[in-house]
Amino acid sequence: THFGFKTVAEEEKESMVASVFSSVASKYDVMNDAMSLGIHRLWKDHFVSKLDPRGGIKVLDVAGGTGDIALRILDHARTKHFDRETHVTVLDINPSMLKEGQKRFKQTMYWGGPQVTFQLGNAEQLDSSMPVPPEPVRGPNSKQPYLPPLISEPIADESIDLFTMAFGIRNCTHIDEVLKQAYRVLKPGGVFSCLEFGKVNVPFLAEAYKQYSFNVLPPLGQMLAGDRASYQYLVESIERFPTQPQFARMMKEAGFHLPGSPTATSLGFPAESGSAPGSEDVAGAWEDLTFGVATIWTGIKL
Ligand code: SAM
Repeated sequence: THFGFKTVAEEEKESMVASVFSSVASKYDVMNDAMSLGIHRLWKDHFVSKLDPRGGIKVLDVAGGTGDIALRILDHARTKHFDRETHVTVLDINPSMLKEGQKRFKQTMYWGGPQVTFQLGNAEQLDSSMPVPPEPVRGPNSKQPYLPPLISEPIADESIDLFTMAFGIRNCTHIDEVLKQAYRVLKPGGVFSCLEFGKVNVPFLAEAYKQYSFNVLPPLGQMLAGDRASYQYLVESIERFPTQPQFARMMKEAGFHLPGSPTATSLGFPAESGSAPGSEDVAGAWEDLTFGVATIWTGIKL
């Protein structure tokens, strides 16, 4: 921003992100499966089981979309730890994604209970609320399920035990603002964990992955969702996102403590991860999954 005004590029990015996710909201899960060959499910399972949520904690799942992470968190806490107290706030900037999330949760045992809340909000401005659009009018014979209205509220300082963000931070204009907000809302001892596309750490595979991204994904998006531009945007946003050590350094700058060195496991394949030449200062802050196609970064607010 310049003197509080958004630049044209920023406005464009924000409206692009809004239209990408509005146009894919209902097909979102199918597309994720098609594009990642179902592997995003394994990444998300691994992300949540490593965090091992339990003990009635307060979780904020930012860019929570259709609730993939929230559902896994609640299931993990319940089935592994008999924990029915843990609470997840699913926060997203896009009302259509949140509505899909509500529809999905309506099929689960958590619906109507106190463990999950859906909230509109901008990851870069968690200290303020967002205008809530009017709910769609629902006639008495509507085939649409009843879904409670969305809310939007600021997130208080030091109110969160676990801050998760999966495949969301890449879409944000100011990553540093998101990290600042994450640091602010976490309690001392709280954990920030981010699952995002990384950079492939094997040169030979990196080339194949690039070919797949640029030559297969946009046409696949056209075929399955009739929407090439959105998938072209996604591929480019992955390219532009910082490398593993670069993002780790941004976390460090925001004040996070980077944990020592989690053993690198790449979904069962042993791999060199959490370090890269010239990045000893931030070694161990991340874990590469599937050779770095996806990466988990973790930081602690001390
Ligand atoms: N976390 C979910 C998952 O892993 O399946 C959804 C990921 S989806 C690829 C990205 C989400 O980020 C979309 O739901 C989009 O609306 C949301 N998003 C984009 N920019 C955002 C922002 N500034 N604040 C909050 N959410 C945002």
